[in-house]
Amino acid sequence: YLAKEGRTGVEFYLPDKDRNSPERLSLLGDLRQALDGGELGLHYQPKVSLDDGRVESMEALLRWWHPARGLVSPGDFIPLAEQSYLMREITRYVIQRALEQADRWWRDGIEVPISVNVSARDLLDSSLPEQLEAGLSEFGLPPAVIRLEVTERILMTDQAYTADAVRTLAKLGVQLALDDFGTGYSSLVRLQRLPVSEVKIDASFIRRVGESADDERIVQSIIDLVRSLGLHSVAEGVESSEVAAQLHEMGCHAGQGWWLAKPMPPEEATVWLRTRLSEAFTDRPKDPARL
Ligand code: C2E
Ligand code: MG
Ligand code: MG
Ligand code: MG
Repeated sequence: YLAKEGRTGVEFYLPDKDRNSPERLSLLGDLRQALDGGELGLHYQPKVSLDDGRVESMEALLRWWHPARGLVSPGDFIPLAEQSYLMREITRYVIQRALEQADRWWRDGIEVPISVNVSARDLLDSSLPEQLEAGLSEFGLPPAVIRLEVTERILMTDQAYTADAVRTLAKLGVQLALDDFGTGYSSLVRLQRLPVSEVKIDASFIRRVGESADDERIVQSIIDLVRSLGLHSVAEGVESSEVAAQLHEMGCHAGQGWWLAKPMPPEEATVWLRTRLSEAFTDRPKDPARL
C-alpha cells in the first residue's frame, strides 16, 4: 500500500480495492477506445511569476471527452490507467501532443516551455528519455521546451532505477518539477538527491493561506526550504489576488491557479499568450495583486 498523510491523519490507499469493479473495467475499456478515437486532448494552464507576471511555462492537462459521460476528469481516470499498460501509451500521446503544440508556439515566436505530467511509473519506462529525445529532434526543438512534473510520491519509492531515469532526463536537459509537494512524507535529504529544479506546493495548503496559521507556517517553511536548496517554488491553486500578494510577500517565486488563468483549450491559450507577450513590452505593475 501507499500511505498518504491526509488532513485528519493517515489514510491507506489500497490499489487492489475495487480493482475489478465493473465500473472501473468499463472505464478502462473506454479509455482504450478514447486513445484510438481522438477523445483525448490537452488544455494548458500558465505558471506565472509573482514578481513580474512573466509566463514561465504552460502546464499540459489531459482532458477526455467521453461520448456518453461527457468530460471525465483526469483525477478519475489517471489513477485507473496507472494500474494498467495504458498509462505508458497515454504518456506517449501527451508528450507527442505537447511537442506539436510547442512546435506551433515556438514557430510563432511564443517561446514558452510546456510542462507535462508524468506518473511515477512512467519513470520506470526506460524508453521515455529516448522518446523525448527523438521527439525534440524531430521538431528541431531545444530540450528546455519540455519539462516534466512528477508527484512527490517518487521520493517515497526511493528506488535506484527511478533516480536513474530522472538523472538521464536531467542529462538530456529536460527540467523536472516535483508536483503536489507537502502531501507526502518526503524528506529534505531525498529532495536534495534528485536533479529537480522546481517544487510545486500543493493546492490544499495554498487554498488556506490567509485563513489558517498552521497552513501558512507549512507554506512558509516549504518556500524557505525550496529557496535554500536553490530551487524554484510554484504555488498551485492560487484563487485570489490576496493569496497571490501574500505568497509573493512570503517569497514564493511563481503561482498557478484560477485567479491567474484557468486551464484553456489550445486556441484560447494561444490568444492568452499573445496578449500577455504584447503586454510584456509595456510597464507591468509590480504589485502582485494586479498581475
Ligand atoms: P496537477 O498536476 O496537480 O494539476 C493541477 C490541477 O488543479 C488540475 O486539475 C487543474 O485544472 C486544477 N487547478 C488549477 N488551478 C486551480 C485553482 O485555482 N483551483 C482549483 N480548485 N483547481 C485548480 P486537473 O486538470 O483535473 O488534473 C488533475 C490531476 O490529474 C493533475 O494534478 C495531474 O496529477 C493529473 N493529470 C492531468 N493531466 C495529466 C497527464 O497528462 N498525465 C498524468 N500522468 N497525469 C495528469
Ligand atoms: Mg502538475
Ligand atoms: Mg500539482
Ligand atoms: Mg495538486
